[in-house]
Amino acid sequence: MTELCEVALPVPLRTTFTYAAPETLEAAPESGTRVVVPFRNRAMVGVVLARTAAEQRDGVREISEVLDAQPALTAPLVALGRWVASYYLAPVGEVFRAMLPPVVEVRAVEELSRTAAGAKYLAELEATDERTGDERAEVAVLQAFVAGNELLRPAPLKRLAGGEAAIARLLRRGALEARVVTKRRKRASVEFESEPPAEWAPDAPRHELNPEQMRALDAIRADIGAGEFRVNLLHGVTGSGKTEVYLGAIEKALDAGRTALVLVPEIALTMALSRLLDARLGREAGVTVLHSALPDGERSAAWWAVRRGAARVVVGTRSAVFAPLERLGLVVVDEEQEASYKQEETPKYNGRDAALVRAKFEGAAVVLGSATPSLESYQNARRGKFRLLELPTRVAQRPMARVELVDLREDFRRTHSTQALGERLRAAIAERLAAGTQALILINRRGYSWFQLCRSCGAAVQCKNCSIALTYHKQRSRLVCHYCAYSRPVPAACPQCSQKYMYFFGEGAEQVEEQLRAEFPRARIGRLDRDTVRTQQEFRKVLGAFAAGELDLLVGTQMLAKGHDFHRVTLVGVVSADLALGLPDFRAAERTFQLLTQVAGRAGRGELHGDVLIQTHYPEHYAIQAGARQDYHAFFEKEAQFRRAMHYPPFAALANVIVRDKNLENSAKWARQLAGILGPEEERGLKVLGPAAAPLAKLRGDHRFQFLIKSPRRTLLTQALTRALDACGEKGIPDGAVLADVDPIGLM
Ligand code: ADP
Ligand code: ZN
Repeated sequence: MTELCEVALPVPLRTTFTYAAPETLEAAPESGTRVVVPFRNRAMVGVVLARTAAEQRDGVREISEVLDAQPALTAPLVALGRWVASYYLAPVGEVFRAMLPPVVEVRAVEELSRTAAGAKYLAELEATDERTGDERAEVAVLQAFVAGNELLRPAPLKRLAGGEAAIARLLRRGALEARVVTKRRKRASVEFESEPPAEWAPDAPRHELNPEQMRALDAIRADIGAGEFRVNLLHGVTGSGKTEVYLGAIEKALDAGRTALVLVPEIALTMALSRLLDARLGREAGVTVLHSALPDGERSAAWWAVRRGAARVVVGTRSAVFAPLERLGLVVVDEEQEASYKQEETPKYNGRDAALVRAKFEGAAVVLGSATPSLESYQNARRGKFRLLELPTRVAQRPMARVELVDLREDFRRTHSTQALGERLRAAIAERLAAGTQALILINRRGYSWFQLCRSCGAAVQCKNCSIALTYHKQRSRLVCHYCAYSRPVPAACPQCSQKYMYFFGEGAEQVEEQLRAEFPRARIGRLDRDTVRTQQEFRKVLGAFAAGELDLLVGTQMLAKGHDFHRVTLVGVVSADLALGLPDFRAAERTFQLLTQVAGRAGRGELHGDVLIQTHYPEHYAIQAGARQDYHAFFEKEAQFRRAMHYPPFAALANVIVRDKNLENSAKWARQLAGILGPEEERGLKVLGPAAAPLAKLRGDHRFQFLIKSPRRTLLTQALTRALDACGEKGIPDGAVLADVDPIGLM
């Protein structure tokens, strides 16, 4: 008997691989241990998922190195990784790679050696007088191998004249041999960022909880005390003090000797929250921030600190759901409805849903917090799967902001022009400037103009890789694709018809800022979007300046709408509520409602009263109406009717399957084949819509066809998709041509 290991490797395949434990080891490495294995002439780092006994090990390749003395991943994390892979139909090795920190302690190095045949060939070449250019290069390469220098890296040899081609030829004729070895680096000893700069420290006063906060906290505390899995949906209006409830729950978990994981939707929110937690919980809690934008070394160091047990509280974004905390007692997911919890690349998991599964494996309590719960979560609460805890009022009797809808159609009737900033909004801004308070202006589009249009033929200038119009960025003076980052100079004539009647359409954040500067030359104006802030530092600088009162107006995209707690904001202006509504997406109304509620929540958070002005062309739309009244229940009822009638989540399980290829004929052919594979599933109760051209029919050079698959039951969907993907493989449709997105957030 011998032991074999099932190893997950970071390759785009939905399978694992079998390796034998090194002969030198007494026992095979445990599940969760990282190992280096040979894979197609390369060294790869993988994770052992299981050990199995086998009769013999003939023909099974051996693990070349075991990286961890103790498993990197705990048993619940290995189970979670397997769940993610099967639920989201994701390549298992890629899931495990996403769970682990970047590997900084080993690197694979390629080395070359000269074979006996190589030595003979060199002697032959040296004996001839007349060598070709190719042969001269080969001689130079082969001569580099001398006693004491038998193993060489390819890089310096490739720099010899004709060296690269010579190496390739010598490898082919067996004169050289290549192999990959792993080299161990000393573990990067990264110092923790000591004290973060104190430019924007939230004060951390302890508030006496109001009765509603208390009731919610008591319920959660009881769950933590019981040490059982239980999901609480904390539905609290903006400014109702949800953070204070999270804090109390975390304290309880630590008191109970357990750890806590807090997920937030944006990197920007991790910093403020971790400082608040630091201030409240003290150094001993070892509050640690984990997110994917940390430099590799830092992220790895933080991850291992958590693994060693130095941290008892982790704050992070979606990927922190895999933080290697042990004895997990509490998981908090703030703003649980946020789209950013869904990873848009493979593995396409939702951090919130993975958090629920993890909590179940670990016997932990869960708090999902939101002012605007997702339809999925609220429906779960209604069905009694989650416990609903409500905070219906703002803290300290602060009133909700007053929201006014501004009908842009009336503006147009009066002025016969459409302006980004209507009369009403400009007057309201002027009032705030005169009173010395602050305003936030939300415009949910980056760039200067949405697109450039030809008056003669009507065509918009398109991306060359994607079927989408390019956005005009004035400062860069280029047209830019917001999907693939392709950019080009602004054409003076139409690329289609060569006429010179080009004009720009629609106002973006850059233009709104310009208009505000022209209208209010003395105001201090800042802008917050992905064009003005690229780093955390820049982000904090702008927000810090606003919080410190160094800016009067802050214009920005939805980056503005989330979480931040500014006390002197008395006006929030929404340039257009309609942008999200127009998208071909069943969540369009939900997104619009969420955005309006959140943005309205930014006004009047201090002692000062706040107003919200929302400009729209559809003031009667239910999402806009309910958003203006901040009436979640009214919105839920309406939206639930629509979803139920259309068989959309939460009343059906949904998957979006894309077939793609650079070659249009290939993708069309494979889409037809997949249609044939999926067809029989309809008899089992599935609804298969498609294939149709995807809303983004071309993206990053790929031609895309789309299937929407709806299922009354979850298991049916998972089984059908698994069968379909397996069948695609058998029909020779390449891996990576068929992309399944389970529980999609967007259908673009
Ligand atoms: P939410 O996340 O629900 O929108 P926050 O947690 O940000 O609200 O709380 C809003 C503000 O109210 C914060 O400044 C917080 O410090 C304060 N706060 C929280 N609880 C109380 C309380 N019981 N009494 C007074 N102020 C409170
Ligand atoms: Zn593009």
